[in-house]
Amino acid sequence: MEYSETNLVVGAGFSGAVIANLLADRLGERVLIIDKKDHIAGNCYDFRDENGIMIHKYGSHIFHTNNEKVWKYLKQFTDFNTYMHKVIGVLDGIETHIPFNFNTLYDVFPQSFARRLEQKLLDVFEINTKVPILEFQKQDDDDLKFLANYVYEKIFLHYTTKQWGVKPDEVDGAVTARVPVYLSKDNRYFQDKYQGIPQDGYTKVVERMLDNENIELRLNTDFQEYKTKNFKRIFYTGSIDEFFDYEFGKLPYRSVNFKFETHNREYYQSNACVNYPCNYDFTRIHEYKYYLGDKSEKTVIAKEYSEEFELGKNERYYPIPKDENTALYNKYLQEAKALKNVYFLGRLGDYKYYDIDKAVLRAIELFEEICR
Ligand code: UDP
Repeated sequence: MEYSETNLVVGAGFSGAVIANLLADRLGERVLIIDKKDHIAGNCYDFRDENGIMIHKYGSHIFHTNNEKVWKYLKQFTDFNTYMHKVIGVLDGIETHIPFNFNTLYDVFPQSFARRLEQKLLDVFEINTKVPILEFQKQDDDDLKFLANYVYEKIFLHYTTKQWGVKPDEVDGAVTARVPVYLSKDNRYFQDKYQGIPQDGYTKVVERMLDNENIELRLNTDFQEYKTKNFKRIFYTGSIDEFFDYEFGKLPYRSVNFKFETHNREYYQSNACVNYPCNYDFTRIHEYKYYLGDKSEKTVIAKEYSEEFELGKNERYYPIPKDENTALYNKYLQEAKALKNVYFLGRLGDYKYYDIDKAVLRAIELFEEICR
């Protein structure tokens, strides 16, 4: 292989696959893409199990975007079904909707009280607006103060403590704002124009992106093997601190542990994703057959337990948005800028809590920048 004529892409998740695909397809350049795992698609990896159920090995992935460019790009590789994600939360034994919305009010409170709260909320907020919980807590009215405390306590406090190891006001406001209080009767988790699950799964999408004569894929392959080679460009989607041998210290991450169970019944729960913000050690339970409407007499679920990331023990899932972590990341970014033809991208490379569409967009925009 002529390394100086080849692009090296480290990591075959969405970020790596998109940049590899664009370099190979649009510029006709050679790409070597490596991944230390034994499969492609990174944490979006999914597969059909022996029951014919599409399992997301690393937790549920639900595609949603308002971005036309991302949508058009991905549609080259797959059709999406029309699945619209809803999340059920069990609050003191009552199944209701998350994000907290007007329908939730009527599920958890006596009807006359719910009506009063709805009216008061409409006096203060525009209908169909989304209010982050930390903002929602700033209420003067006693009823609304009570409601804000209820939502904080029942939906955010314990879930966030389980998920991040700290209270909601100790994580970056943008994290809890992902799940706002929604002044609406729309029970969907996302309101994006385009949403769905790829018809043949996420792994197939990545496989099709990499199916190009200019791309060579090597799995079970560590970057260390290629570090000293002189590539045309390097695109690194691993954690940026690892690239620099942790010279300024380790960037912290949250990890997740999924405990899978197969049950001899058609369905386990009423919905693909059920959150447990008040009880248990797990945060939520995923039931996979809902996503693509898979038919089987059995069902597979995963209970999700959040934990600290420890090198060598588990995987990186979530960067932890926090000033001191951003400062550490910025130190690495400075180092990165001094390198020629080395680019960092993806959740780990950019140390950003990207959803799939944002990771795809970042890779497309990086490609456009290189072409300029
Ligand atoms: N969250 C919560 N209770 C819930 C759902 C979410 O407190 O029932 C908070 C929690 O801090 C979580 C964040 O909102 O980490 C973002 O949730 P999201 O579902 O977007 O997280 P992801 O699916 O990316 O893990």
